[in-house]
Amino acid sequence: MVMVRQWAASRAQSGVGRGMETDDNQGQTGGIAGAQPTPARRPRLPMVDTRRCTGCGRCVGACAPQLLSLDVQHWKKHAVLQGAERCTGCSLCALRCPFDAIRMVRPTG
Ligand code: SF4
Ligand code: SF4
Repeated sequence: MVMVRQWAASRAQSGVGRGMETDDNQGQTGGIAGAQPTPARRPRLPMVDTRRCTGCGRCVGACAPQLLSLDVQHWKKHAVLQGAERCTGCSLCALRCPFDAIRMVRPTG
């Protein structure tokens, strides 16, 4: 299980897999000598597509810091992120979702 989690985490960090953004090269300086390094960026956060989410709860169990829970809206369960400031952006929740309902998105602003 530990091996699987390590594999999933490394896959997530490299942006491979479902729901991964591919913007990792954005904000680079293009190798200009003397350019300032880009500031540390905030981690990507899980965005739940409530149309795809079935409320199965698998992502809830995948999140070690227990930041995801199930909410009910219009008689339908779906996952919600609680305490986004504690999210590490590990993407395990997105990788665990069998319905491709979670996309990792880097917050703007
Ligand atoms: S694993 Fe996917 S479908 Fe299941 S509750 Fe989480 S987001 Fe919804
Ligand atoms: S990205 Fe990681 S820490 Fe953030 S909600 Fe998903 S599983 Fe939890």
